[in-house]
Amino acid sequence: MSGLTLALSKGRIFDDTLPLLKSAGIEVVDDPEKSRALILRTNQADVRVVLVRASDVPTYVQHGGADVGVAGLDVLLEHEAGPYGGGALLRPLDLQIARCRLSVATRADFDYGAAVRQGARIRVATKYTYLARQHFAEKGVHVDLIKLYGSMELAPLTGLADAIVDLVSTGSTLKANNLVEVEHILPISSYLVMNPVSAKLKRERLQPLLQSLQAAVAQR
Ligand code: ATP
Ligand code: MG
Repeated sequence: MSGLTLALSKGRIFDDTLPLLKSAGIEVVDDPEKSRALILRTNQADVRVVLVRASDVPTYVQHGGADVGVAGLDVLLEHEAGPYGGGALLRPLDLQIARCRLSVATRADFDYGAAVRQGARIRVATKYTYLARQHFAEKGVHVDLIKLYGSMELAPLTGLADAIVDLVSTGSTLKANNLVEVEHILPISSYLVMNPVSAKLKRERLQPLLQSLQAAVAQR
């Protein structure tokens, strides 16, 4: 395909990317809320948007299912560290959208500091097993990791885990579940990612897009 395929995930990334694309002259004309189509047309005949799971964006772009995509740094780093993350993926621009942070949280009555000082084994539930393993290894904290795919907040409340590693933005979800943030691991935002072959073969089409997006990000 000679046109451009852009991989986005529904929700905050789609919503926050639209205005940036608009400043770059690309307007999505199909409304994902009004149809079940996963391929959306834009005002430019040679540009289309494909809707994929947030965690599938790096896979699509790495293997050329899409030329470019937008994904959170959490998803990108976890993908790179994982078994299928070997392939090169360019990350030319921090779009500064979907900002949040990766943090450790526990029940308010769990003394995380004491557990760390005593060298206790801490049970940690997370979707981000690679990032969590790396963080605790650097700190020299012993952890047993429990892989979950969602609703991480439940783990400390049910006794499944002592702590979670999850994304936090306002902290209201933690608060609603009587959890407290005890450690910041990494600031997170979403990035433009690019397939390296597309970057070469479609350079004339992609360079202006990248420049417009850079300008749009700088202006905000
Ligand atoms: P999946 O489709 O696999 O369920 P998901 O639920 O992680 O994916 P979203 O919740 O839409 O998908 O999150 C997409 C990205 O948005 C995350 O990878 C992260 O970078 C960012 N994000 C997640 N939660 C927040 C938040 N509370 N505030 C700001 N950005 C967030
Ligand atoms: Mg989701």
